[in-house]
Amino acid sequence: MLFIFRNNNTIKKLSTTTKFYYTTTNSNKRIKDLLFKKMMDENDVKELISNYKNIKDRVEIISNKFDKHNVKLVAVSKTKPIEMIRVLYDKGHRHFGENYIQELVTKSEELSELSEINWHFIGSIQSNKAKVLTSVKNLYVIETVENKKILDKLAKSLSNSDDNNNNNNKKLNIMIQVNTSGEESKSGCKPEECLDLVKHCLEDENCKNVLNFLGLMTIGSPNATPDQPDFKCLVDCKNNISKQLNISLDSIELSMGMSHDFEPAIEFGSTSVRVGSAIFGERDYSNKK
Ligand SMILES: *Cc1c(COP(=O)(O)O)cnc(C)c1O
Repeated sequence: MLFIFRNNNTIKKLSTTTKFYYTTTNSNKRIKDLLFKKMMDENDVKELISNYKNIKDRVEIISNKFDKHNVKLVAVSKTKPIEMIRVLYDKGHRHFGENYIQELVTKSEELSELSEINWHFIGSIQSNKAKVLTSVKNLYVIETVENKKILDKLAKSLSNSDDNNNNNNKKLNIMIQVNTSGEESKSGCKPEECLDLVKHCLEDENCKNVLNFLGLMTIGSPNATPDQPDFKCLVDCKNNISKQLNISLDSIELSMGMSHDFEPAIEFGSTSVRVGSAIFGERDYSNKK
């Protein structure tokens, strides 16, 4: 791979694209350092921090308004450089979301010195990648489990791992992703299937020893009406699981709400919002794929 830097602007422009960043991860350290210096100037850092504070404040205001407590803010850093993650970590932020397995693996290795970081995996899981995924250091939760096959694969790779990268025998948190909008393009199980999946996670001999059911996750329709049927659907799933399996409502988390809808999501009962572009800026996919 050959990079030609015409001037500083070119470096900066190029460096905001994912592919450029990733192709440099194995290359010359000097170029990498140079790149990172150019990647974020003082204003970029200021803007990032100000976006972050703004979102954090809005999460707090809406939480207080509706008397919800301890709503988690997950900063979705996919396609964004690790320097941006470092900036927020230095500000005390700990929860970050990624949705490409390889990108998560690379970033978690490069940021392995951030010992308190909590990674949320929020992308689709190819079952042949279960092993790679479960060995990510500081993996906090896999939010996108949508069928039994993946539950079993995750359980198997955790039981087989002797390196036990994953936090000394602590169970791995998982969430069941539910397709609440019914759009075919969306991942997730059908709402009527989630009870069965949770049961499997809690009762299956292999799963129950290594997996911890943390809650439910959904991606709402981007054009949802103000009565938020998708969020309501996830709340219904939670109520049903609580009742059928005799689990207290408080102990089932709901991950719903993104940049454009995290406020209504909290109003409707979200306990964990996943905010990307409103913190990190628009993503550039032009070089992806
Ligand atoms: C990218 C992504 C987000 C963040 O989206 P924004 O609209 O940028 O806030 C949240 N959840 C999932 C599953 C995502 O893939």
